[in-house]
Amino acid sequence: MPDILNPGETLRILDKYGIHARKKYGQNFLIDRGVVSDIIEASGITKEDCVLEIGPGIGSMTWHLARSAGKVVSVEIDRSLGPVLADTLSDCENVTILWNDILKTDLRKVAEEYNGGRPLKAVANLPYYITTPILMQLLAEQGCFDSITVMVQKEVADRITAKPGSRDYGAITLAVDYYSKPEIVRPVPPGCFIPRPGVDSSVVLLRALEEPPTDADPAWLFAVVRASFNQRRKTLANGIVNGLTVGGKRVNADRGTVVKCLEECGLSPSVRGETLSLSEFAELSKCLAKNL
Ligand code: SAM
Repeated sequence: MPDILNPGETLRILDKYGIHARKKYGQNFLIDRGVVSDIIEASGITKEDCVLEIGPGIGSMTWHLARSAGKVVSVEIDRSLGPVLADTLSDCENVTILWNDILKTDLRKVAEEYNGGRPLKAVANLPYYITTPILMQLLAEQGCFDSITVMVQKEVADRITAKPGSRDYGAITLAVDYYSKPEIVRPVPPGCFIPRPGVDSSVVLLRALEEPPTDADPAWLFAVVRASFNQRRKTLANGIVNGLTVGGKRVNADRGTVVKCLEECGLSPSVRGETLSLSEFAELSKCLAKNL
């Protein structure tokens, strides 16, 4: 099967197999070869690599990944795409399709089974309805990936790369910073997909960090981050006093101790969480873990 990564071939294949992009699965098929070349270049894929692709769709990007990588494992939830993928990937012997929900897929097992336990490179034009859970799943599997190169809504890319104090700064920014070094690779307009999505998109590259950037206990660190951003309009002290939950257990955080920890970390008792950097959150969470 020839390369189908262009509008004419994509329409022909969709028509041939009677495929109507399913909104519930966030299906917007890429039709721009330049975008896929940039994704492959940014991720630095070589024949030594095993790529995990999330959502191959009709296989347009998969076909190109198969030519650059040693192996490609593509996880797809929509089984109705079976016949079209069998056709478009008929000459790609190094591609395995796993029919599964990515959020229910054991990624460590995939790395073990298909790459001898070595890190994978994750690549995807993500289904936008579950962007955040998928990113969190990939990031939390430390050691499983050495890079994650994904298409996301522009709004998510802006949140991922936001600076403290800005409107876009939030829990996802801090999670990404804890696990990786993020970079926006390029913007992608709606015309690069069929059907056209209602939003602009961006390709982002997250390079996994070998070591966490802080020795704070991640359970405490992210508990403080959640308490801060769950109640964005409140001061950080109020957010912590009203709702600090560590490892599923509510912590009784008395105001006096919280204020003392803020001051010990050089922070004002009236500070808002959205102005704190990752290292400030980390120091505060260490102090709270010691004193609460
Ligand atoms: N990679 C293709 C492309 O670029 O043309 C399709 C991208 S489309 C935006 C997202 C793909 O993810 C679809 O194939 C969709 O069926 C699949 N998908 C949606 N939810 C999924 C899930 N939970 N697990 C695995 N795949 C999923």
